Amino acid sequence: MYGVMKGQICPYCKHEVENYESVWDFEAEEEVECDHCNKVYVVKPQYKFEGWLIEEQCEGCGEWTEDGMKLCDCEEEG
Ligand SMILES: [Zn+2]
Ligand SMILES: [Zn+2]
Repeated sequence: MYGVMKGQICPYCKHEVENYESVWDFEAEEEVECDHCNKVYVVKPQYKFEGWLIEEQCEGCGEWTEDGMKLCDCEEEG
């Protein structure tokens, strides 16, 4: 076992895949062919779960919050 790697690195030849070519899908389990040694390995992106971001809809204007921040000033006026 290699554990969690900081980059998508081929376990055979240690070639590191560029970030933009890496697999990023959460819960993905993708077979990747290394473009250096042409061997196939499987990558599973791991993310640390930090909890939920909750968004609410303003009762006054119907505007939704974004990243937990209110977008309108209804509350200040009321
Ligand atoms: Zn390789
Ligand atoms: Zn509002």
